Amino acid sequence: MTQASLPTSLLPDAILPDSRTPGGLPGHGVAVQGNRILDLGRREELVERNPQAITKVLRGAVLMPGLVNAHQHGRLVSSLQLGLEDDYLESFMVKSRDRLFLDPELNARLVCASFLAGGVTTAVQTNTPLGTGDYEREIRSMISAYDGAGIRAAVAVGCMDRGHVVYRDDLEETFVAGLPSEVGVLATRPARPIYAGNSANTIALAKALLQDYGRHPLISIGYGPAGPQWASDDLLRAIATHASEDGLFVHFHGLESIAQCVAVAKIYPEGFLARLKKLGLANSRTSIGHADFHRSCGLDD
Ligand SMILES: [Zn+2]
Repeated sequence: MTQASLPTSLLPDAILPDSRTPGGLPGHGVAVQGNRILDLGRREELVERNPQAITKVLRGAVLMPGLVNAHQHGRLVSSLQLGLEDDYLESFMVKSRDRLFLDPELNARLVCASFLAGGVTTAVQTNTPLGTGDYEREIRSMISAYDGAGIRAAVAVGCMDRGHVVYRDDLEETFVAGLPSEVGVLATRPARPIYAGNSANTIALAKALLQDYGRHPLISIGYGPAGPQWASDDLLRAIATHASEDGLFVHFHGLESIAQCVAVAKIYPEGFLARLKKLGLANSRTSIGHADFHRSCGLDD
């Protein structure tokens, strides 16, 4: 029997069993074995009831259920560490495209180590381009790191197929033509693919991941379209269909800037949720992060 699988009584200063117990339970501990909780109670009584257990005193610690990070991008190297100053979202993203080039395996290990250090044991990860041009390697590195770290993760396969230069592809040519020539040459589409590609490639990647992780006890596979201004109706409809067939979650971005509000008001004249309903994405398997500007743009229908 390994050390990890021996019954162990953990004796912190207090335990915080749930949010309904403000202040927690001082002087309590928990007996565990492997991934199971065996017992919980006052420290002395716990030790008495579990004489076979190793005792670990966690001085100065509070023991609580792991935290859940409900929206993150699998990247914990900060913008500042990448040399990016704060800016409007659109300017920031264009600049970050050239600087985001992180080693997928090292990045994945850093993310998991940081989560565990901060008490996060469950995470939802949505679209995570690292700029390598090999999105499958990037997402598989993260899944493998979550698995290795014992972190429960809902991993969304990212995708986008429009809005690379301006949010409305129909305006791209006019927009670029109107720029001073020295600026116009910089307004180009990304040199390397950001995600898996078109809807067929995106769905093929999700299916390959489901093949490998569909029955995994900790990993759930779903879809994370970048946001409505970056994903065409055809792409969203295709992933909605597959998500419905296989019961997958869809987690994507709402509107994060005024420019996105202006664009989406034109792209979705009937309203944001009305379009999602048409596309088969307004259901209990869909969740949206960063819906910062919906109310101010009158789009919180
Ligand atoms: Zn986000």
